[in-house]
Amino acid sequence: MTKWVYSFGGGLNEGSAGMRNLLGGKGANLAEMASIGLPVPPGFTITTEVCSAYYDNGNAYPADLAEQVAAALHRVEKSVGLVFGDATAPLLVSVRSGARVSMPGMMDTVLNLGLNDETVEGLAASSKDERFAWDSYRRFIQMYGSVVMGVPHHRFEDLLEQAKHGLGVTDDTAIKASDWREIVKDYKDVVQKETGKPFPNDPQEQLWGAISAVFGSWMNPRAHTYRKLHDIPASWGTAVNVQAMVFGNMGDDCATGVCFTRDPSTGENIFYGEYLVNAQGEDVVAGIRTPQPMSAARATADQSPMEKVLPEAYKELMRVRDILEKHYRDMQDIEFTVQSNVLYMLQTRSGKRTAAAALKIAIDMAQEGLITQEEAIQRVPPGSLDQLLHPTLDPKAEKNLFSRGLPASPGAAAGAIVFTAEEVEDRAAKGEDVILVRIETSPEDVHGMHAARGVLTTRGGMTSHAAVVARGMGRVCVAGAGGITVDYKAQTMTVGNVTLKGGDWITLDGGTGAVYVGKVATIPPTLSGDFSTLMGWADEVRRLRVRANAETPEDAETARRFGAEGIGLSRTEHMFFGPDRIGFVRQMIMSDDPATRKKAIDALLPFQRDDFSQIFRIMSGLPVTIRLLDPPLHEFLPHGEAELEEVATALGQSVESLRARRSALSEANPMLGHRGCRLGITYPEIYAMQVRAIIEAAIAVSKETGQAIVPEIMIPLVGMKTELEVTRKAAEAEVAAVFKEQGTTLDYLIGTMIELPRAAITADQIAEVADFFSFGTNDLTQTTLGLSRDDAGSFLPYYVDHGLLPKDPFVSIDREGVGALVRMGAENGRKTKSNLKLGVCGEHGGDPDSIAFFESVGLDYVSCSPFRVPVARLAAAQAALAMKKEKASS
Ligand code: PEP
Ligand code: MG
Repeated sequence: MTKWVYSFGGGLNEGSAGMRNLLGGKGANLAEMASIGLPVPPGFTITTEVCSAYYDNGNAYPADLAEQVAAALHRVEKSVGLVFGDATAPLLVSVRSGARVSMPGMMDTVLNLGLNDETVEGLAASSKDERFAWDSYRRFIQMYGSVVMGVPHHRFEDLLEQAKHGLGVTDDTAIKASDWREIVKDYKDVVQKETGKPFPNDPQEQLWGAISAVFGSWMNPRAHTYRKLHDIPASWGTAVNVQAMVFGNMGDDCATGVCFTRDPSTGENIFYGEYLVNAQGEDVVAGIRTPQPMSAARATADQSPMEKVLPEAYKELMRVRDILEKHYRDMQDIEFTVQSNVLYMLQTRSGKRTAAAALKIAIDMAQEGLITQEEAIQRVPPGSLDQLLHPTLDPKAEKNLFSRGLPASPGAAAGAIVFTAEEVEDRAAKGEDVILVRIETSPEDVHGMHAARGVLTTRGGMTSHAAVVARGMGRVCVAGAGGITVDYKAQTMTVGNVTLKGGDWITLDGGTGAVYVGKVATIPPTLSGDFSTLMGWADEVRRLRVRANAETPEDAETARRFGAEGIGLSRTEHMFFGPDRIGFVRQMIMSDDPATRKKAIDALLPFQRDDFSQIFRIMSGLPVTIRLLDPPLHEFLPHGEAELEEVATALGQSVESLRARRSALSEANPMLGHRGCRLGITYPEIYAMQVRAIIEAAIAVSKETGQAIVPEIMIPLVGMKTELEVTRKAAEAEVAAVFKEQGTTLDYLIGTMIELPRAAITADQIAEVADFFSFGTNDLTQTTLGLSRDDAGSFLPYYVDHGLLPKDPFVSIDREGVGALVRMGAENGRKTKSNLKLGVCGEHGGDPDSIAFFESVGLDYVSCSPFRVPVARLAAAQAALAMKKEKASS
């Protein structure tokens, strides 16, 4: 016989905390609390398997369920000395849903079930409080009527208001028993009118009605949507908890409350919560009366803390709090009721908390000896550290939503709307807060992005230029807000009939993708000592090294401050857009004869050497990977007529001939065009100059600092071994030339990005000529899925919303596709060279889920934007601990 019903309390505990899947979170914890001796009113849990069986059998219960429920109910009756449905000493119960994870959208609680026209008299007699009995009855009809029978809640509220008006009272407590009797009658009439059915008088019918409502609510649209959003399978089902009622509303020695064992917003070790004297659970949330604080320390002079009002019950609650924390080894969110000064526990579960609280609680609990250091590391969600590193919106501030885009770079920023990078720079220089708004950004906008408080684009995905660059700088960014129409000419942006002009203020929430009209107040980040303690503990256990993607001295410094162990990707193209360089870059690209090109390139050499020297200096003692020029050429082409004329004058050529050259160079599909090593192979002078700049800078800074520098030169977009062979040979020749000129040498590495499927598949061949691989998972995702990084915004969100893809593959690695290629590339590469250094420098290097995957592949390091470095350090530690556990259990 299948066991469908598990008893708890009253001396028989058939469940435990470990049985969450079968009993749901609430049921499992009620059993657990009862079994460790805490005061839990007796009851029973109908298992989640009943829910599944119910749906599998066309909404019919297993044949023996009724019998098991009756037996469990009988046990409750015996334990409390009352009888369900008895006219003199009636047992009343609560009925609550309880899935494995707490799930809003499920059926609300029904209290006082078992009351009817006869039992209400019994309750009045046994409690010696007629008013209480009739108030409880009307509450029951109201709850059952709305939750189980579907009568709109306001129908009851309206009636109550009318009654109060008629009686000339404002407060519920002023309503007498005889008046409640009348109101009960009216409530029943409402039920009849709204549902066409009488309110059930038979307690058994009430009980099964409530049980069916819980199981029915598992499939209601709200629960369905919630499950979909949180990846909860429908097959899990919900459990139903039926429990003997205790009353917090039987007088002034009664109360009900909801609290956390520590402060869930700061993590402070202070009992935190609210309670109400002489009230039932729903009164605390209903907001009719103002709940009071728990501890005297948290109360103001005009408040009545429980510590003072009900000192005995409070003392008992403090004892329970300690037991719970020691037992569960985590901060708990609890519900309790005090009936005639006796405390009863109705729920405990691990409490939701802010990032700051998670951090503090984890560190404190480890230091208190409640948990181990390793557990503390696992208690803090790595992604939540973002909240600690950036300003966030003040949750209390009023907000007026304008539109939404992708949460591309976290933090919150407010400023005036500006549509060009130039204007951003000008206004920022005058000390103004500005937000750069573009349809999309290009490398030309980088200086403006830097000067802006935040960046908003209407096109592009999570690895679009704007997203990648903003993350790198730690600038707030909302990308791909497709609902906004930007009109550069009119200097406006519009959503529906709301139009904002240049200079109007907006606020971006880079953590959610929201764009608000006007200035919303922000709260600055605070980095506590706990943060560095946690980071230190994480560093002790992680295997993966963490580097940063950085090219400016400022970013490199930020990266070091956040604990980066080197640079895994320096995108040299980002260095080419300074006003002092872009002219030479355009001349280099636009000149069609090698001699003129050489002149422009020579002019760029000192700039590059200086760039690299600065980075080597800042990262002194740590590895630095510099990637040779990669991006599609069109990003450098002179766009406007003025730019064209400037280049023509510098090159001594006609504007017409340059216009022709520009159209010859423009490509239909630049992302798959003349970029990466293809550029270096066809214009070898460019790579030669960059290699020279790297080696000259490394030699100079080594001499200056006395520290050996081992530069890592990285070739992008390699698909074939031959490509790397050619570029490597040319680079080695240039290095040899520099060594000869300078009469010295140093160690260096030449490696490649693996960012095309062909490179991953033929990695064994490519490894023959590579000292290291760095997986460029941005391009690898783009090319594996055939999904443009910059255009995916128009349909990718739909794919994710409708479950065609579990997550945005540019954010979290597509393990089955792109991940399989990374694994193949790593294995094939190491077949050829067992000590081949392997890293990843795509955006996935800062994503906790992807980091867990890279740990399983055995990469040596991840590289991510500077502000993600702490996230990656913690995620790497968690991944290492998970691997250790997996190995130990296999
Ligand atoms: C990549 O493709 O993953 C990468 C790191 O290079 P980029 O984003 O510059 O193309
Ligand atoms: Mg790339």
